[in-house]
Amino acid sequence: MHLKIDLHVHTNYSYDSVIKPEEVVFYAQKHGLDGVAITDHDKIDCALKMAKETNFLVIPGIEISSLDGHVLALNIQEPIPKELSVDETVDKIHSLGGIAVACHPTSLFKGSLGEQISSKFDAVEVINASAFPFNYSVKHGQKIASRLEIAQVAGSDAHYGPEIGCAYTLVNAESEVEEIVKSISNGLCQPFGKAIPLTVRLKRELLVFKRKLS
Ligand SMILES: [Zn+2]
Ligand SMILES: [Zn+2]
Repeated sequence: MHLKIDLHVHTNYSYDSVIKPEEVVFYAQKHGLDGVAITDHDKIDCALKMAKETNFLVIPGIEISSLDGHVLALNIQEPIPKELSVDETVDKIHSLGGIAVACHPTSLFKGSLGEQISSKFDAVEVINASAFPFNYSVKHGQKIASRLEIAQVAGSDAHYGPEIGCAYTLVNAESEVEEIVKSISNGLCQPFGKAIPLTVRLKRELLVFKRKLS
């Protein structure tokens, strides 16, 4: 069985997102997804709550601000401290039973890891729908993943509802979170997606700007 999962979604528990938790499933289903990973910046409360209470596949995750750049952790049950080195961050994720994804490895303006990605990671997010410049990021991400021989995944990095599902990972697994992350780290997955359309992106910028003002 193949599941279509957006592995990178921010709710409004992230300071820079306007997605209400109750909107996540609406847009995920509207865009034909089988599941999402909730990955708020350095916070896991919403992800855990949704994974427990939502009648839809939710993988609990977190986007950690490590000293060297952003790192996604999937399938963890407790927060991971920010501002550790990338190496310590990945070790911590593994010790908690999660998998580590190098997100938007080369995107500008995002706190990217760049050359700090090692084969200790379980996957590289080669498609991040909000990465800039998009085509360059995809190409470079693929290069890094194939050099390190690790899995390639995709996520929207949505901060606004309509962005959910713009990019997604097709995972060869049943709908069990443990099995899904195992399949990903074994490379039984494929990245798909495109850049967030400009009009949607502008709308997002406006809404996030308003939120930060209020
Ligand atoms: Zn990020
Ligand atoms: Zn993100």
